[in-house]
Amino acid sequence: MTKIDPQPGIMEISPYVGGKSSIEGMSNIVKLSSNENPFGPADSVKEAIARAAHDVHRYPSVDHAELRAAIAEIHGVQADRIICGVGSDEVLHMLAQAYAGPGEEIIYTEHGFSMYKIIAHAVGATPVVAPEQERVVDVDAVLEACTDRTRVVFLTNPGNPTSTMIGLSEVERLAEGIPEQAILVLDGAYAEYVEGYDGGAKLVEMRENVVMTRTFSKLYGLGGMRVGWGYGPHEIIDVLNRIRQPFNLSTVALAAAETAVRDTAYTEYCRSENARLRVWLAEALGEHGVPCDTSMANFVLARFSCQDEAEACDTYLQKQGIIVRRVAGYGLPNALRITVGDESSCRRVAHSIGLFKAGER
Ligand SMILES: *Cc1c(COP(=O)(O)O)cnc(C)c1O
Repeated sequence: MTKIDPQPGIMEISPYVGGKSSIEGMSNIVKLSSNENPFGPADSVKEAIARAAHDVHRYPSVDHAELRAAIAEIHGVQADRIICGVGSDEVLHMLAQAYAGPGEEIIYTEHGFSMYKIIAHAVGATPVVAPEQERVVDVDAVLEACTDRTRVVFLTNPGNPTSTMIGLSEVERLAEGIPEQAILVLDGAYAEYVEGYDGGAKLVEMRENVVMTRTFSKLYGLGGMRVGWGYGPHEIIDVLNRIRQPFNLSTVALAAAETAVRDTAYTEYCRSENARLRVWLAEALGEHGVPCDTSMANFVLARFSCQDEAEACDTYLQKQGIIVRRVAGYGLPNALRITVGDESSCRRVAHSIGLFKAGER
């Protein structure tokens, strides 16, 4: 028997399962399983990536000053409270690594992002799940789940895969109510899709126990580039910078993200197309007898009458070359999560679900 054991918690991890991206024997697939931007990155970003290729023999920036300045300027936040990571995933990981460990607890909500559980186990902490109310975060239930061992509370707002959100006054009540040794982490992966919502940035500036995370993977169309950022109190950002790898972001990733955040015309185009098409898609599905909650993100959660029907519909869609996401692993066995694609993809998926509901299998 070997004495070489991993740290506690690590063998509890079931590796992350991403959205399917291919169907055997099929080309011309419509991929609506990973909440990606259907329009891809901006042309300006592709050009910035090509230019950055000339400099990859040099090490990248250690302090990400130019990217932080661009984020600060465009989002109206303070550059010295920003930390950039390899996707927002890295920032979430660093928070857990820095603040939670064996014997301590990390809370997330019933239908919360599957990475939170993985992150909790990775640092040897105990994951604790707070129930939601009809697919909406229940602040009282989260507060009830808190103990003197709670170190981190992860809240996705708007939620994935629910697409619902809670108001800032509720978020504030949560920040006010958690124990003094705990950090509230506002995962704002979908914050840009909500008109007039700052993701909780102002709340971060007002308090000492709130951190916001954001990503370039969704609205900015850069999931493959791996860039995200966190916004928090100076003390916490300083702690995270001590464990961050100095060269975590490549020259190419930094150039792509800086150009993306500054290309506000393209961002606005993607945001408004998404807003228009998510309403269209939810209404079309509703007419076919498949209800969705009002989505605040770039996907809808389509609800079927039972798990069998949801799975049969998924199988049918795959036969039509359409990939959506099963979410039984998120406690939503009756539902399928469907990313808002471009107009033709939205029409294709709605049409196919209509045929499925009309009895074609
Ligand atoms: C997509 C997503 C992220 C973003 O992850 P990256 O590492 O930035 O690509 C974070 N949280 C949630 C809930 C998400 O859905």
